[in-house]
Amino acid sequence: MTAAPDPSQPYRGRFAPSPTGALHLGSLTAALGSWLMSRHHGGAWLVRIEDLDPPREQAGMADRHLRDLASFGLVSDEPVLRQSERSAFYAEALQKLREDGWAFECRCSRSDLAASGGIHKHCVKQPSGKHAAWRVRLPRKMVSFDDAVRGHVAQDLGSDVGDVVVLRADGYWAYQLAVVVDDALQGITQVVRGADLLDSTPRQVALQGLLGYPTPSYAHLPVVREANGAKLGKSLASLPLDPGNPLPALVKAFGLLGQDVAAMQGAEHARQALARAVTVFNPASIPAQDHWLAQS
Ligand code: GLU
Repeated sequence: MTAAPDPSQPYRGRFAPSPTGALHLGSLTAALGSWLMSRHHGGAWLVRIEDLDPPREQAGMADRHLRDLASFGLVSDEPVLRQSERSAFYAEALQKLREDGWAFECRCSRSDLAASGGIHKHCVKQPSGKHAAWRVRLPRKMVSFDDAVRGHVAQDLGSDVGDVVVLRADGYWAYQLAVVVDDALQGITQVVRGADLLDSTPRQVALQGLLGYPTPSYAHLPVVREANGAKLGKSLASLPLDPGNPLPALVKAFGLLGQDVAAMQGAEHARQALARAVTVFNPASIPAQDHWLAQS
């Protein structure tokens, strides 16, 4: 697989927020980066709401994400998909993985796996009345891909990942399965997202292989981190953006993508800033390292 999207296929990119908290500078950077890549390649940009984890979600947050994105001029080119409405597709994928002998029921708890560093290599628990999760046995091998920003990335699935949960014991679908199914069914040709997900990509590539899906190209964008190392989205300092005043945050996000912010100067509204950004956007300038914010 090469780092560049296949030019023979119409480019399709996406932004896939989880409605667990308000959009912040880090999520805006991922949204803007994926939108710019789509426009740069003359392709479509889709928004998909990854609302798979109701206990962690806030009521009304998905709609707020869509409204806030629109204030920044970022609007999905196709109807927005919500993963909470797509169980049938995930069930079909699990059925195939079962038929092919890759999926198995598992009742191991986190503490059962402590001895193997949390990595599931085989079940250590005898079946009981407890609800089971479904896991997939991934190939015990090195999986690598060429990321458009980070270059060659490799991970040993056997020692670093083990068997992945695809349906949680509490009955919710796991992100790793849903993202692979939806990226394939939506025909996504390039996944552009934050580098906090770099570590998930080799297992997603392996799942694509087991399900017979094509592997898209990948571009992992810099993550904004606090000086103490926390990803901005997970820290207390990740204040929500102000959709009433989108330009300063757009300029900041464009700068975090390594781009020439002068191009946006003087823009009167978000759409105008975006239109100017597209004309100067250079994917080769996206930094291959995360950003560290100084402690305030
Ligand atoms: N839903 C994930 C998040 O909000 C992003 C998943 C992806 O882009 O693959 O962090």
